[in-house]
Amino acid sequence: MYQDFVDFVRATFDDPEGFIILHDPRFIGNERKYIMDAMDSNFVSSVGEYVTKFENAVAQYTGSKYAVAAVNGTSALHICLLLAGVKRDEEVITQPVSFIATCNAVTYTGAHPVFVDVDRHTMGLSPEKLEAFLKANARKDVDGYCYNVRTGRRFAAVVPMHTFGHPCLIEDIAEICQRYNIALIEDAAESIGSLYKGKHTGLYGKLSALSFNGNKVVTTGGGGMILTQDEQLAKLAKHITTTAKVPHRWEYNHDYTAYNYRLTNLAAALGLGQIEQCDFFIEQKRKLTEKYKAFFADKDMTFFTEPENCRSNYWLNAVILKDRTERDAFLTFTNDHGVMTRPIWVLNNRLDMYKGCQCGDLSNAEWLEDRVVNIPSTVIVPHYYENIKKGAYR
Ligand SMILES: *Cc1c(COP(=O)(O)O)cnc(C)c1O
Repeated sequence: MYQDFVDFVRATFDDPEGFIILHDPRFIGNERKYIMDAMDSNFVSSVGEYVTKFENAVAQYTGSKYAVAAVNGTSALHICLLLAGVKRDEEVITQPVSFIATCNAVTYTGAHPVFVDVDRHTMGLSPEKLEAFLKANARKDVDGYCYNVRTGRRFAAVVPMHTFGHPCLIEDIAEICQRYNIALIEDAAESIGSLYKGKHTGLYGKLSALSFNGNKVVTTGGGGMILTQDEQLAKLAKHITTTAKVPHRWEYNHDYTAYNYRLTNLAAALGLGQIEQCDFFIEQKRKLTEKYKAFFADKDMTFFTEPENCRSNYWLNAVILKDRTERDAFLTFTNDHGVMTRPIWVLNNRLDMYKGCQCGDLSNAEWLEDRVVNIPSTVIVPHYYENIKKGAYR
């Protein structure tokens, strides 16, 4: 049965021999032209017109009022948390199902992650579990903020993540955050182009972070973006990602211990060429998803599909196996036969650094951890490598 899958993937990606990886970038638009142009301008660092152009393009694509570029998604998330007012020795509620960057960004602020369960059908933070956790653990103080009855520390933010590009129940989460007066920050690193009720993920939070790492749908090599609908926060984001330098013709005045987090012009040039093709990428990815759906229809595995009211970018396609034994057998067979597959992340609350963190009931996360496997999801461009050799995209 697993052999059928390997054959299907090889046929679909038209690669009879090579190792087929999970997600490769495709550079088939203006990327080369823009990068050469950026080089010719001599602005290769973080000052240059491509950074602003890329920010504007991402703002327009997502429908965000403001977009501020950063060197990667982790640093973008770090800035989101700082600007939301997260401070040392406070707490940030997040999901255990995520790439390590989510927890790391929380830790950079000096705050502590607290883990609340996900939903099985979104793989993102569960509003029901969040509500139950807050009911049991939060107390509103006279200052209007919520504190953890167990630790006395303030719940400074909630950070849901749109897993593999599938939107979580973000509207319900936003409503709960508002009621408990806790800042909502979306880790939208994986979900460019993914919509919840027609609105782009990342537009529900006070601030949110996108990632343009090499394995994401749109890449700048390494890069990220802070989205916000608040002009003041956007200005601050730009300020503290650029060493908080006070503008002056020659004076070096800085008014905050800030960060050197701004994206370079070269990376932004690549990003502009990429974002122009985002709709095409997602169209192709969704076609691939349809093929997977048809393939898995009569198989003993569940293919994961977008939640209701959502359009997912299907960044990484996923299947749900019967149990951990099946999962491991599938992982072993496919990787042995040149098709890369990968289990969902080890739950972050199990990692050494986060073992001591408070957790709610994590039964859904644990269920998913035993069963979810990602399968190859690269945008299909026929004859890509042959075309590159011929210089077709120059
Ligand atoms: C990719 C990713 C990030 C950011 O990663 P960078 O490599 O720093 O761009 C953050 N959170 C999640 C869930 C991610 O998948």
